[in-house]
Amino acid sequence: MGRIEKFLRDKKEKGLLRILRPARFRKEGKIYFKDRSFIDFSSNDYLGLSGHPKIKEAAEKTITTLGTSSSASRLLSGDLNIHHKLEKRIASFKEKEDALLFNSGYQANVGIISSLLGKNDAIFSDKLNHASIIDGMLLSGAKIFRFRHNDIEHLEFLLKSQRNNYKEALIVTETVFSMEGDKPPLKEVASLKDRYSSMLLVDEAHATGIFGEKGKGVVEEMGLAARIELVMGTFSKALGSFGAYVACSSELKKYFVNSARSFIYSTSLPPSIIGANLASLDLIEEEPFRRLTLLCNSDYFRQELGKKGFRTRGTSQIVPVIFKDSQRTVKISQDLQKKGYWVLPIRPPTVPEGEARLRFSLTYHHTKDILGKLIDDISQICHV
Ligand SMILES: *Cc1c(COP(=O)(O)O)cnc(C)c1O
Repeated sequence: MGRIEKFLRDKKEKGLLRILRPARFRKEGKIYFKDRSFIDFSSNDYLGLSGHPKIKEAAEKTITTLGTSSSASRLLSGDLNIHHKLEKRIASFKEKEDALLFNSGYQANVGIISSLLGKNDAIFSDKLNHASIIDGMLLSGAKIFRFRHNDIEHLEFLLKSQRNNYKEALIVTETVFSMEGDKPPLKEVASLKDRYSSMLLVDEAHATGIFGEKGKGVVEEMGLAARIELVMGTFSKALGSFGAYVACSSELKKYFVNSARSFIYSTSLPPSIIGANLASLDLIEEEPFRRLTLLCNSDYFRQELGKKGFRTRGTSQIVPVIFKDSQRTVKISQDLQKKGYWVLPIRPPTVPEGEARLRFSLTYHHTKDILGKLIDDISQICHV
C-alpha cells in the first residue's frame, strides 16, 4: 500500500479523517447546507460583522474605484495609498507608532517570527500557541522553549535557566486562546520580558474588536500597549473581513519590509479588502453594543452551564465545554446537530488526552433566547 493511501486509511480507521463540507451560504449566525440549516457555533464571526451593509458597501466602492487586484507585492507596484491609510489606522487603533499589513494571520506570524529570530536565538512560547506561531518558530531556526499554558512560574524558570545562553530572545503568547477561551497573565509576562531582556509578541486574533473599553483588544484592556513590542492581530475574525497586521515601532516595520519573506514575496491584499477593513474599524468604534452584548451573553452561557453541572473553561466569547471522553463528545455533537446546532468536537491530539470538548464560538447573533434553548437541549442530551 502506498504511503498516502495508508495515511488516509489510518485516519479513517481512527475516526480522524477530516473532510470538507461546503455550505451554500452563512448568514446572521446560521449556516445553510443543501437540505438544512444550523445555528453556527463554529465560526469566528464574533461580532456578526461579516454581512454588515457598511462593510459590503465599502468593499464594492473600492472595487469600483481601484479594481479587483493589487496586481503585485507591495515592493513592486502593489503598494497603494489605501494600504498606508489602513496601516495608519491600525497603528492608532493599537496605540503603537506604526503597523504593517500581512495577507493573513498565518502569514503574519510566520513572517514576523522567522525574520526576527535565528539560529543563536531563543523563543519562549506558550504550549497552546496557534499553529502559525509554531510554524514561524520552526522556520526561524531558533531554539524553542515551550512553557506550560499560562504558567508564569514555568516561563520564569525557563528564562532564568536558558536566556543567557542565547543572543536575542522572544516571548510569544496569544491574548485569548482559541481552544481554552482564556487569557494569559499579560502584566507578569511583560515584566518577565523586561527582566530577561527579551521582546514580546502577542497574538490578538481572538481578542481584537472584543476586549478593552474601545474594543482594541486585551492589550488595551490591560493598558500594556507601550510595553509590548509586537502586537499582532487579524481582520478575519471579529472584524468580519480578511488580512492581518503587526503593530510595532517604525523601525521594526522597516525591518519586516526588508526581511519578512511572507510579506515580501506575496501579492498584497486587494483594494476591496482594504476598504472593507477600514469600514470594520469604523464599526468597532460606532457599534460598541456588539461586543458588550456578546460578552454579556457569553457570561450568561458559561454561568448557566455551570449551574447545570457542566465543566466550562475560559472568560471570553469562546466557551469550551469539557466532556473528557472522545467518543461521548462526538456523540453529543451529533445529537446537537440533529437538534439544529453546528458545533464540532475537539479531540486529542488537538487537546490533551481526557479533555475532549465541544467548543462553542459565540457571536453577536446568538441571543440569550437561542443560548437558553441550547442549554436546555444540551442538558436533555447529557442528563447531567
Ligand atoms: C486564526 C488565527 C490565526 C491566523 O489568522 P488567519 O487570518 O486566519 O490566517 C493566527 N493566530 C491565531 C491565534 C488564530 O486564532
